Amino acid sequence: MLNIQEQYDYLEKTIREYNPGADLQQIRAAFDFADKAHAGQKRKSGEPYITHPLAVAQIVAEELHLDSESIMAALLHDVIEDTPATHEEVARLFSPTVADLVEGVSKLTRIQYATKEDEQMENLRKMLIAMSKDIRVILIKISDRLHNMRTMEYQSPAKQKQKSLETMEIYAPIAHRLGMQRVKWELEDLSLKYLDPIGYDEIVSRLDAKRPEYDALMERTQAQIHQRLQEMGIPHVVYGRMKHPYSIYRKMFNQNKSLDEIFDLFAFRVVVDTVGDCYNVLGVIHDIYKPVPGRFKDYIGTPKPNGYQSLHTTVMGSDGIPFEVQIRTKEMHEIAEYGVAAHWKYKQNGQGAGTEGKYEWVRKLLENQDGADAEEFIHSLKIDMFSDEVFVFTPNGDVQNLPAGATPIDFAYAIHSAVGNRMVGAKVNGRIVTLDHVLKNGDIVEILTSKSAKGPSRDWMKIAKSNEARSKIRQWFKKEKKEENIANGRASFEAELKHCGIAMKDVLSPEILPLLLKKVPYGTLDEMYAAIGYGGFSAQRAVSRIQGELQRIAKQRQQEKAVEEAMEPRQEDQPKAPEPKRVKAEQGIIVEGLDNCLVKFSKCCTPVPGDEIVGFITRGYGVSVHRADCPNASPEKRSRPDQAGRWIKVSWGSDTNDSYPTSLEVVAKDRPNLLLDISTALSTTNTFVLGLNSRSTEDNFAILRLEVRIRDSAQLTSLMNRLHQISGVLNVTRPAG
Ligand code: MN
Repeated sequence: MLNIQEQYDYLEKTIREYNPGADLQQIRAAFDFADKAHAGQKRKSGEPYITHPLAVAQIVAEELHLDSESIMAALLHDVIEDTPATHEEVARLFSPTVADLVEGVSKLTRIQYATKEDEQMENLRKMLIAMSKDIRVILIKISDRLHNMRTMEYQSPAKQKQKSLETMEIYAPIAHRLGMQRVKWELEDLSLKYLDPIGYDEIVSRLDAKRPEYDALMERTQAQIHQRLQEMGIPHVVYGRMKHPYSIYRKMFNQNKSLDEIFDLFAFRVVVDTVGDCYNVLGVIHDIYKPVPGRFKDYIGTPKPNGYQSLHTTVMGSDGIPFEVQIRTKEMHEIAEYGVAAHWKYKQNGQGAGTEGKYEWVRKLLENQDGADAEEFIHSLKIDMFSDEVFVFTPNGDVQNLPAGATPIDFAYAIHSAVGNRMVGAKVNGRIVTLDHVLKNGDIVEILTSKSAKGPSRDWMKIAKSNEARSKIRQWFKKEKKEENIANGRASFEAELKHCGIAMKDVLSPEILPLLLKKVPYGTLDEMYAAIGYGGFSAQRAVSRIQGELQRIAKQRQQEKAVEEAMEPRQEDQPKAPEPKRVKAEQGIIVEGLDNCLVKFSKCCTPVPGDEIVGFITRGYGVSVHRADCPNASPEKRSRPDQAGRWIKVSWGSDTNDSYPTSLEVVAKDRPNLLLDISTALSTTNTFVLGLNSRSTEDNFAILRLEVRIRDSAQLTSLMNRLHQISGVLNVTRPAG
């Protein structure tokens, strides 16, 4: 057992070997500082505490060949957490970077883990990586964990199990992804030792028992392969390895096999220059050893989804012990060994392209282990793997994965939309924060909710970073506000109806409601109310459309009534006309030079007061009155010699009748509801209708003949104008002749 000074000297020696430019003076200062800071502290084993940071620094140097700052940080990694030393002090005495590294390692130490389902574990791993910010933090942390696992025997059984589980679930996978295969295997085997001591012992004792046999077999086999390939002139590297205990254990457990049934306890790897040589080597191997049927896999022809390429075959050794041979090119080997980290995200998102460059540092790191200047490259190896994500804890220790810049709002909606909708506040690491507080990796976030919470505000939409939160908030507004909108919309609709003198019950009548809904772009009244409440539609517009519809229906009824009324008097009128009791002798007509003569109005032009008129003395029927413009009273006719003496001047007296029957002809483009609109015009002008008939022409015109009673020409002109305004009406004339 080396004493502390000897341990330190060994560390220096290790560093010098791979990094002659290391700052040994500062490293020693760090060691001295840590030694003093931890003075009096003891490990569970009874050793002085400083032996632990020293051992971690040794791993960091020996296994990972890291730079001076990393070694200083490894020596100091527990001083901020476990001694009075502060970040400021470390920053001042050494460097801010060293202080940040130590602080980073301490933060990871503070994280509490509970075993969870796989997805949670993956998030925890990512959280650790993300929290590390600087790759060196996680590398030191893994080294720290490795030493703790190596010295776990002094801990209580409960602690052993807990730490081993954590190592198995968190640190070994991270080591694997960072390409630290040897560290990974050791972490797994140490964990297994505490998690399943019996299983572990069984495997180890049986492997130990056969160790000499296995070692001899490996050496012999390796030599055989090497010799044959040399004879064939194939440039190659060949080496063998034994499966490590945890890997055997997993295989036994997963495939329910005994140790003897495991074919690939041994594996040999042959690395060559070309793909062609891979297949040449395969031929050679199958020539030396008998292949085990069904065990050949061509991952060169068909690479694994993560890009892994190799030829795998299992053969029977000369001693009757099967072993696996993996054959690949150097390039494939590099991807297999170091590319795993590059596929970290690949596995997560199912999209691998373009991520390679991001993980270039892993490759550099490992390449660097073959020499080169440790101080040179390590500085730039900042972790940006998860720069677009942030990982935070729920109070239960579940990890939530949120987009970078996420706030408690994002967190709350990630938990459940009900949590978000009832949120009234948030705590981060036990302290109340504002809702726009930006969450950091490792934060413990607690959402304060209330059943009487009013729900999200529109501002939240701007604060939230995740699409999930935003869409859940939007949903809330749609759904939750809809009820509010409907209530508000109905209120303003009813107010508007009242304003227009329409009763709500009229609108709701089964006769009208469907008609109304055709007039608005909504399927139901509630939808219309919601739109009015939301501001997407106005109550005025809704009512005006409805009003039009109501009026139309009212008019339709009036029209039906008007036609009925029109039919009745017409039937009554016929025998009565000319109405003796109303019509005065002159019927409002002054016939020049003649008193009390019989006057009748011509059927051809139906003159009304105001019209220019002329009279014609009929034989036996008195004076017939024509409009001056009537074709039957044309100047030609009037000047005919046989009739010239019979035309006399007539004029309207002051004492005209209340009304006179007259005719109108309306020519219109035929369309639905034309008759209805004309009826409406007649009824709104209080025109007394004697008769109405219409016919359609072949070219889709309608010709209507109207018989009405009219007071005078002014009223008639007004009616004609009104009719002319009706859509589709082309011409309104007074028929004559
Ligand atoms: Mn430690």
